[in-house]
Amino acid sequence: MSELINVEELFGVNVFSMAKMRERLPKNVYKEVKKVATYGGELSMDTANVVAKAMKDWAIEKGATHFTHWFQPLTGITAEKHDAFVSHPDEDGRMLTEFSGKELIKGEPDASSFPSGGLRATFEARGYTAWDITSPAFLKESSCGKILCIPTAFCSYTGEALDKKTPLLRSMEVLSEQALRIVRLFGNTDATKVTASVGAEQEYFLVDKDLFMQRDDLMYAGRTLFGALPPKGQEMDDHYFGVIRERVGAFMKDLNEELWKLGVTAKTQHNEVAPAQHELAPIYETANIAVDHNQLVMETMKRVAIQHSLRCLLHEKPYAGVNGSGKHDNWSITTDDGVNLLDPGDTPNKNIQFLLVLSCILKAVDTHAALLRQSAADVGNDQRLGADEAPPAIISVFLGEQLDDVVRQLVETGDALHVKKGGKLKTGVKSLPDFEKDATDRNRTSPFAFTGNKFEFRMVGSADSVASPNTVLNTIVAEAFCEAADKLEKAKDFEIAVHDLIKENFSAHERIIFNGDGYSEEWVKEAERRGLPNIKSTIEAAEALTTKQTVDLFAKFHVFNKTELESRQEIIYENYAKTINIEALTMIQMASKKIIPAVIKYSRHLAETINAMTTAGVEPKVEKALLKDINSNLEKMQKALEKLQRDEQKAATVEGAKKRAFFYKDTITKDMAALRTPADELEMLVDKNTWPIPTYGELMFEV
Ligand code: ADP
Ligand code: MG
Repeated sequence: MSELINVEELFGVNVFSMAKMRERLPKNVYKEVKKVATYGGELSMDTANVVAKAMKDWAIEKGATHFTHWFQPLTGITAEKHDAFVSHPDEDGRMLTEFSGKELIKGEPDASSFPSGGLRATFEARGYTAWDITSPAFLKESSCGKILCIPTAFCSYTGEALDKKTPLLRSMEVLSEQALRIVRLFGNTDATKVTASVGAEQEYFLVDKDLFMQRDDLMYAGRTLFGALPPKGQEMDDHYFGVIRERVGAFMKDLNEELWKLGVTAKTQHNEVAPAQHELAPIYETANIAVDHNQLVMETMKRVAIQHSLRCLLHEKPYAGVNGSGKHDNWSITTDDGVNLLDPGDTPNKNIQFLLVLSCILKAVDTHAALLRQSAADVGNDQRLGADEAPPAIISVFLGEQLDDVVRQLVETGDALHVKKGGKLKTGVKSLPDFEKDATDRNRTSPFAFTGNKFEFRMVGSADSVASPNTVLNTIVAEAFCEAADKLEKAKDFEIAVHDLIKENFSAHERIIFNGDGYSEEWVKEAERRGLPNIKSTIEAAEALTTKQTVDLFAKFHVFNKTELESRQEIIYENYAKTINIEALTMIQMASKKIIPAVIKYSRHLAETINAMTTAGVEPKVEKALLKDINSNLEKMQKALEKLQRDEQKAATVEGAKKRAFFYKDTITKDMAALRTPADELEMLVDKNTWPIPTYGELMFEV
């Protein structure tokens, strides 16, 4: 048996938390830190020096040798540049460790190679990192040793955000300000802050390392680009919540321990729908910390997988034909005196504040559906959204029976007089208790579902940062709150005005509510009839970033300026083209160096067999038919390969990031599909021992 684990002792051992600061800092210093962390502002340099010293001492006691400003550039993952805690040796040649307040608060990585969408080219190449005091510093353990990581925001010399965190922090402040105006209207004078909370459920696949290494596509693209479906996929539903296999269990155990040490509240784990697919969900926390922690979750998954001779696939669609991976972004907003604004209570029809908040959220989501869709878009997610297992690319809101009924009453009569109750769930077994049922059932097909006291945004891709979706959510809801507060603060009769506004919001934006099967063909048609956008690809979605509506929204609340939005859009186009280019080149390599040679070898074997049989006087009927079939697919493959190669050359000459991205989407991805089809046919025709790469069956079932 393995050693006992004490979760309480393990939790947060590698985090320089507020509790550790309270222990290690002089009282007045701690107080200043706490104040700035809660209400914003700047630390004085004296305080920063004291904090830096305490942080360094703690880190060195724990065996750290380096520190880094840990930030989230627009690559979607995190970046770090390690600096040792060393200074010039003194006269006796002794090394004194050093880490100043200035080094804690501000960094200047030479970050000119990060994507900036042209932002810095026109100004200065400099980028600065600034400590996000609200997210605790932590120690990362890896083969590099122990590194003190200081979560930071990353901005250009002129103050433009070069990362995913800065706008998120801006959006959280904006949401807080506007939500406070709402709760004040309802007589809450105690709350001083409203916080967005996020719980990001992370889906992932595991694959054996040796098999992974034999697949160029998994190595370079993170997903399979060839592969026929195995005889068994997910149709038996036997993997979902199934018993966790030993090897996977050992991985999960180590993963949890590593995450707990980092203060990540890894909570639930289970097998997902597809074979070799799993999920980890942490307990929700303040949005920016949840975003940081989700990055740590993804990074730790990859690292621990390697230790178990596995590889963790975070791609949204590693395998065609089975479920892809997403990241459900659970989101709610809570006042610092403990009121979750999304909690309907037992009688939502009488909870006016809740109804106003809900109506504002519906308005926000309907008004900015295209932008919200964009916030969940990435190249990998294009393989998933709109495919039959994932939420469609159409944004709609699921409210559940109870709230739907309340909204309907409000829209139809102006009053919601009654509320549907869940009632008792009768088990029919004497020894089992009867349960109070929830008033709403779940709807797993909705991209934006109300689930009890939070919304669950299910479009987000598994590999993507959750920063953008939450930045958008916070800002669009802040806008709706702002518009409501503008009206209501001026109202002569608040009761009547709020009643009218709720009805107006629900009536105007009812079209965004959909409680049916989001995966059905009928919904696609119905959504079109309702005028809801259905945006299929990342690069089409990117247009939403620079529409007048979006630019005005973000400018009003100072979350993004126009230049920042344009640069992000540019990066999306560039990134799209680069990603598809890598995939195309990988396919070309696999087809020409592995698959086609293997097929030729097998064809030759067949041809020799046919000749030998004919000489022996036996009619090689089956062999001939097989050879013919193989040969016709091989011809198709060769033709498709040549076309892809030609178009790849063309792609390189297309001028302009946007045009190039669309060329990749409209031409290259079609060429890739044309190459894949005959190759997958051939996989079914050619002898297993000759097939040069591990099959889907091996990849998914041999973990
Ligand atoms: P399910 O898979 O059934 O949706 P999980 O337990 O896997 O449920 O994940 C639910 C996620 O939602 C968890 O991360 C949980 O902490 C988070 N969550 C629960 N309540 C809230 C809330 N009020 N605000 C934000 N997130 C929440
Ligand atoms: Mg879950």
